[in-house]
Amino acid sequence: MAKLIDGKMISQQIKDELKAKVATLKEEGKDICLAVIQVGNDPASTVYVGNKKKACEYIGIKSLAFELPEETTEEELIGIIDKLNNDNDVDGILVQLPVPKHINEDTIIKSISPKKDVDGFHPASVGALSIGQHGFVSCTPAGVIQLLKRSNIEIAGKECVVIGRSNIVGKPMSMMLLRENGTVTVCHSKTKDLKDVCKRADILVVAIGKPKMIDESYVKDGAVVIDVGIHRDENNKLCGDVDFESVEKKASYITPVPGGVGPMTIAMLMNNCVEAGINK
Ligand code: NAD
Repeated sequence: MAKLIDGKMISQQIKDELKAKVATLKEEGKDICLAVIQVGNDPASTVYVGNKKKACEYIGIKSLAFELPEETTEEELIGIIDKLNNDNDVDGILVQLPVPKHINEDTIIKSISPKKDVDGFHPASVGALSIGQHGFVSCTPAGVIQLLKRSNIEIAGKECVVIGRSNIVGKPMSMMLLRENGTVTVCHSKTKDLKDVCKRADILVVAIGKPKMIDESYVKDGAVVIDVGIHRDENNKLCGDVDFESVEKKASYITPVPGGVGPMTIAMLMNNCVEAGINK
């Protein structure tokens, strides 16, 4: 039976460490500030933005909320981002995605200063990660690395297989595992013999977006299985891309859904904000 990797507990640890750091910075006269911009009122985005504000409050980070109407133009949004880029009191800028269809997401991501790009989505941040330079890294895969490290799971020299090649999870995940000296294979929708490739993995990171797709037949005995997926099943219960009941019998470690990778994303966002403030 696999051991559970407790993302709820580890994310709380990280938030408490950050809280202490922010308190020390405050004593030195340094306040950390995150600007969160939401365009329109997509209900899921409203929940995510609310959770980010709550985490800021807990840690002692000041949060500035920009709740813009759906019909905000690209130019208006860029204008606001530009002001925040030049505001010395603002350390991090986050535009909640997706933005409405009439706004080009890539243009918006590029308009955020890489120095304040706490989501780690700017091409300069992605480039820095790929050539081993300092920069902000995408929060969900950064959270996975923390889950592994804080569970004392060695990455160096291990066969790491990532399923999924999205810009926010799969690709940065593979770069981060490589940075930790893993031997990394990236699988995607066109991969042949997916099962055979997955069965080589000592560490299997699953970010496909397909509920419970990965069962024990994809998993080597004793593998570490990290489930990034998040869905509602037919009974409206949260589940991941991994069939937990099947895989937990075979894996050595496994992340649950909920309570695995999910809570790590915000913790790592908070970490990026604190770093932005320190390195200003
Ligand atoms: P995405 O849809 O952008 O990418 C999915 C990837 O899976 C693609 O690269 C695709 O090639 C690959 N894929 C699809 N079908 C496949 C198949 N049959 N075999 C092999 N590969 C296949 O999704 P994403 O944004 O990377 O998110 C993945 C999952 O993680 C989703 O369930 C999402 O909700 C979840 N997610 C969770 C968090 C979190 O904080 N926990 C953050 C981001 C995403």
